Amino acid sequence: MKAAVFHGDRRISIAEVDPPPAAPGELSVRVARTALCGSDAKLWTKGAEHTPGHEIFGVVDQPGHALHGRRTLVYIPVHCGRCESCLAGDTHLCRTESTLVGWNRPGGYAERLHVPEQCLLPVPDDIPDDLAPLLLDTIGTSAHGIRMARPIAPDGDVLVTGAGPIGLGAIIALRHFGYTRIWVSDPRESRVRFAAEFGAMPHPVGDLSRRFKLVVESSGAHAARNQGLEVVLPKGVVLLLGENDAPWTIEEKKPIRRKDFWMLRSFYFPKADFAENVELLRRYRDRYARLVDAKFGIEALPEMFGRFVAGELLKPLLAFD
Ligand SMILES: [Zn+2]
Ligand SMILES: [Zn+2]
Repeated sequence: MKAAVFHGDRRISIAEVDPPPAAPGELSVRVARTALCGSDAKLWTKGAEHTPGHEIFGVVDQPGHALHGRRTLVYIPVHCGRCESCLAGDTHLCRTESTLVGWNRPGGYAERLHVPEQCLLPVPDDIPDDLAPLLLDTIGTSAHGIRMARPIAPDGDVLVTGAGPIGLGAIIALRHFGYTRIWVSDPRESRVRFAAEFGAMPHPVGDLSRRFKLVVESSGAHAARNQGLEVVLPKGVVLLLGENDAPWTIEEKKPIRRKDFWMLRSFYFPKADFAENVELLRRYRDRYARLVDAKFGIEALPEMFGRFVAGELLKPLLAFD
């Protein structure tokens, strides 16, 4: 099968490789679409041990199995199903497994992969192939974070920092959950204009003149995180959706030190959210569809990945037919 190899130094090649062996309990999935994700950019520069790609939609290809032929997404956290977290429904927080498909085992920038059966999320037939991957990071991650923040900050002014797929997904979900006053900041003017079409008002990057009940930090940039800590209202929430594993320094200035507020990190989403997330996609299908702006075959991945990291594309799809 064909699979992408991330060598590091911004070099990707497409290789002919043997499909990875299936362990007991694992099923083969023929990949149909894998959405590119900004978090893969670090693998593009540093290189990856396994085939990356973690926003995967495909078809189960396991003749004889009850799920054979089913359209499915791949839920990336491998989980035991038996620990305290799993039993509480927090399948993304498994205490005994920490493997993520596309990170610590082969992912979806390849024609096929094997995944544990519990990592399959069967997709209803009315959800088109091109939109299905949005149910993972774009909808799943952003909606889960907002669901966590809602009991603390159920209304009031909201700032979304970073208007990439997560930030835009957050804006769509925020409006669904009833937030009406949403601002957005992003250094890229075109992204701010795009977010404005989804009902978010522009807010200058780094501006500290306004306060917000909820800050949805979707960029992972330390400057945006620090801005969020400063502009969040007393008793408000800074929701950290963006990721950044470089050391983060917080200067504990008076506007940060002298207030009660929550800093809330959320990671991915529990499987139990999935049905509600499908409803979100059904309801706002036209908005979500605007995020998908390119589709290409695997031979074009090396070039398209570069264009994606350069910010030319928002949520492109690697497609196999
Ligand atoms: Zn991702
Ligand atoms: Zn578990």
